[in-house]
Amino acid sequence: MTLKTYHKKRDFSKTPEPKGKVTKTKSNLYVIQKHAASHLHYDFRLELNGVLLSWAVPKGPCLDPTVKRLAMHVEDHPIEYGHFEGIIPKGEYGGGTVMLWDIGTWEPETDNPTQAYRTGHLSFTLKGKKLKGRWSLIKFKKNDDKSWFLIKSKDKYAKPLSEYDITDKKPKSVLTKQSLEEIAESYEKVWSKKGLKKIAKKKS
Ligand code: MN
Repeated sequence: MTLKTYHKKRDFSKTPEPKGKVTKTKSNLYVIQKHAASHLHYDFRLELNGVLLSWAVPKGPCLDPTVKRLAMHVEDHPIEYGHFEGIIPKGEYGGGTVMLWDIGTWEPETDNPTQAYRTGHLSFTLKGKKLKGRWSLIKFKKNDDKSWFLIKSKDKYAKPLSEYDITDKKPKSVLTKQSLEEIAESYEKVWSKKGLKKIAKKKS
């Protein structure tokens, strides 16, 4: 596991995102970040081997086991990223508002999650504030490592989409209880780097 791609894509003198490093912990962190970049999507992340494995889910998670949500595998992120909420400046990679939409822990269903991940079929239980119960990430194309599905398994937490759309019913941050718009408006508070604060003041 490496963060080379993550670091290469970003200029840390301009973005407030954490630089981070590979950090082996046993926290089994699970997060979803709602990200209003050029297109709104939900970044689904699971801690494994010192990094956050990451998938961009355009439509977000769905509690209906008959619904497969496309999940595009993206570069590994540092564990610290799991606590990030704020603004990535316009023009930078992923420029836009990032909301911490869900946080918790995950438990793989196998003793060897690294192997399950490599073979493209990872099943697990989520203990998040919003998402709970059994889920799977499944790679569905032979020679394509990027395209996966995120699917809810049948259990007591499953609900038909016609009755309940979780992205609709629970749109706000688990960290600040704010909407994307509110996070965007209060960005001076969430930007931590000196240079960025200056830019923020100039605007107001
Ligand atoms: Mn993203």
